Amino acid sequence: MTLVEEAQKVAREFDYPASELQRAIERFGEQMRDGLQRSGSTLSQIPTFVTAVPNGTEKGLYMAVDLGGTNFRVCSIQLHGNSTFSLTQSKVAIPRELMVAKTSKELFSFLAKQIEAFLKQHHEEHYEGHIRRRKTMSKGEGFKEEEIFNLGFTFSFPVQQNGINRGTLLRWTKGFDIADTVGKDVCALLQEEIDALHLPVRVAALVNDTVGTLMARSYTSPGKTGTLLGAIFGTGTNGAYVEKLSKIRKLTELNDVASYDTSTGEMIINTEWGSFDNEQAVLPTTPYDAGLDADSVNPGIQMFEKRVSGMFLGEILRRAVLSLVRNPSVPLFSDENSSLNDVHSTTNIADSSGLWRTWGLDTSFLSIAHGDESAGLRITRQALDKEYGITAASEEDAEAVKAIASAVGRRAARLSAVAIGAVVLNSEKLRESETEPVDVGVDGSLVEFYPGFEEYIREALREVPEIGEKGEKRIRIGIAKDGSGVGAALIALVAGKVN
Ligand code: ADP
Repeated sequence: MTLVEEAQKVAREFDYPASELQRAIERFGEQMRDGLQRSGSTLSQIPTFVTAVPNGTEKGLYMAVDLGGTNFRVCSIQLHGNSTFSLTQSKVAIPRELMVAKTSKELFSFLAKQIEAFLKQHHEEHYEGHIRRRKTMSKGEGFKEEEIFNLGFTFSFPVQQNGINRGTLLRWTKGFDIADTVGKDVCALLQEEIDALHLPVRVAALVNDTVGTLMARSYTSPGKTGTLLGAIFGTGTNGAYVEKLSKIRKLTELNDVASYDTSTGEMIINTEWGSFDNEQAVLPTTPYDAGLDADSVNPGIQMFEKRVSGMFLGEILRRAVLSLVRNPSVPLFSDENSSLNDVHSTTNIADSSGLWRTWGLDTSFLSIAHGDESAGLRITRQALDKEYGITAASEEDAEAVKAIASAVGRRAARLSAVAIGAVVLNSEKLRESETEPVDVGVDGSLVEFYPGFEEYIREALREVPEIGEKGEKRIRIGIAKDGSGVGAALIALVAGKVN
């Protein structure tokens, strides 16, 4: 077999045929329903206490922060009330040591300091005014209501929410691991550090990024139909959708529940679908998936996410490519000038290359390789050289890597279609009307930058008999740009009305 044929053989391990897709959609539906009945289910199906989606007429100035995975974002949002908004944003990478800090305080005081820096930089007048006011305040006196920024805190990890601005962390994901935070109210942790800095900011709402995406898309989306689903395909993957209150059986069992508006008869549910089929009854599993899981910080958990999201796809590709490098009969990245037999010294791969390291290959490389149409795959070869220390990769080498990268990406998109398709079918919206679009807001680097990700999702949706070509056409998918910021502002607004 030629090198490219060997690579295609590995690529075929990532095939995900229509029959399996269908089976997964059915199981996804079952796990959605199960999650609405009880706690402790595989899909957490967390009630968010947000009972209405916006229609574009909402107005006001709000703050939002987003702890998503890779970065911490702080922004202020002016909602103009005509489906448009202005947004000011700053972004800082989360230092790795804070992701695995000993105490919550280390992380949350860092976050509060970023909020302070943002206020100083972008709302100086407001900030200075507060500093002056604070000096003249008597002991125990707080800020006036109109001085306070209501803030939406987007916190994209599984939390048990028991009010619009209250929620305890169930578990960390995406490489975070601070034992001290689990079981604590993350809004209170942030408010404590904000108060320690005497900032005029109130954590008004706890927001999951998927709920934010859903709200943002609904505020900006064209037409009168509210959005059904907000979905993230970034560092992690998750979705939130609009569910009928009557179907959320477990709501009545939750004690300590804040009051919420029941007039719409609906509530947004945060699925936490990253953990779909943790039992692995229907998820496709290659040796590379199994190896990744075993070496992860949370084996057996977030099994769907580990096949779909940005944090993991690069690592799946790395393992698959490495299997070829280690196969002595396959000349991938082979160094023709060497006569030694040791794998390391017969390849063009530098010892320092990320290819040898767990998590050493970034998912953005999948987008580069899959989208590479340059002559001789020059762009992929350059990236291999510059970013991964693989010098003198041949065109065949690049072709082999591209074949596997494309297969990993396509499988991720087809699995994404399982989640989207199951939520659409659960809503019965395709049956309720013949023509109304079913609106889906998406966000995240993977869906935004991986070439053809949406088309792969659509191709898979068409293969589902209950959706078919007709149904797929009615599903309208749109990027919710800056979704987490605007969405969090909209939820802070809703929360202001409830509190
Ligand atoms: P977050 O989900 O942390 O808020 P993003 O949506 O930007 O942020 O997602 C970051 C993830 O997306 C990382 O895992 C990164 O590897 C991946 N990523 C970044 N750029 C690209 C790209 N061009 N193509 C595919 N994945 C990408």
